[in-house]
Amino acid sequence: MRIVVLAGGIGGARFLRGLQQAAPEADVTVIGNTGDDIHLFGLKVCPDLDTVMYTLGGGINEDQGWGRQDETFQVKSELAAYGVGPEWFGLGDRDFATHIVRTQMLSAGYPLSAVTEALCDRWKPGVRLLPMSDDRVETHVAVTVDGERKVIHFQEYWVRLRASVAAEAVVPVGADQAEPAPGVLEAIASADVILFPPSNPVVSVGTILAVPGIREAIAEAGVPVVGLSPIVGDAPVRGMADKVLAAVGVEATAAAVARHYGSGLLDGWLVDTVDEASVPAVDEAGIVCKAVPLMMTDVDAAAEMARAALALAEEVRA
Ligand code: GDP
Ligand code: CA
Repeated sequence: MRIVVLAGGIGGARFLRGLQQAAPEADVTVIGNTGDDIHLFGLKVCPDLDTVMYTLGGGINEDQGWGRQDETFQVKSELAAYGVGPEWFGLGDRDFATHIVRTQMLSAGYPLSAVTEALCDRWKPGVRLLPMSDDRVETHVAVTVDGERKVIHFQEYWVRLRASVAAEAVVPVGADQAEPAPGVLEAIASADVILFPPSNPVVSVGTILAVPGIREAIAEAGVPVVGLSPIVGDAPVRGMADKVLAAVGVEATAAAVARHYGSGLLDGWLVDTVDEASVPAVDEAGIVCKAVPLMMTDVDAAAEMARAALALAEEVRA
């Protein structure tokens, strides 16, 4: 079975680990969000691709959900001693090596997709990890801070400001000019199932769908498309997804996120059992909905979610 998964960082990566346990024989292609990418200290950092790569490759800091395990921060403190920041972005020594290799290869002319493949030669994530695009896309957020309206990088909004002010607009800068990376449209066209893990619907999955051609390819693939809600009990399980949902006029509920994707894209949607009451509303929107436990407390729980998603896919296919 060929499965395509559109993934952000933590939510996507943890779900994928469950999917690998649930369907060990499946051929999984991950289309990763690169809208979070940022240049820091002259290096290209791809937070979501790395979270997937480290999580599936056994190098992730489990408690944090991002970055390397057994990390140290010597480089960061040496940079700070020179007065060189930003200090709000936590790049550890082990992680730095990844960004150095990536930047070196990009500077030598390799596209991001080839660089990602080379990094994965070390980590062996067990999936084919593709960036959504080789072209630069950067998510920016419009905010008002101290009465001043400005546009900042998504990482500055998320990490430095901790989404403490309203996101007035979220713009994937460059997405409209970007092309899907090599292999992306081919993987979608030959998929048996397409899954949206419980990743951020705006700045993770939404950004991937903003690359021209990807949304259309999914809608036209003619195979079941099933998503899992990142919103449980009317709040994001982790992080501040409600802030960026508000920016696109979507309520932070499992049903509203399903309607936001729409029946033109989604065939099936899983909500958590605490949101069981929203099942009829999603069904009425033309999306087959089921309530199952959606908390990824451990790999077994994530695997159970993946089984439920694959079962729902078979149900809508029939
Ligand atoms: P990021 O790029 O690291 O922010 O990760 P993603 O975009 O892949 O996923 C973030 C989303 O995952 C957030 O909106 C969370 O609500 C959601 N999430 C995290 N853990 C869980 C979980 O255990 N269950 C569910 N249903 N959603 C989760
Ligand atoms: Ca992310």
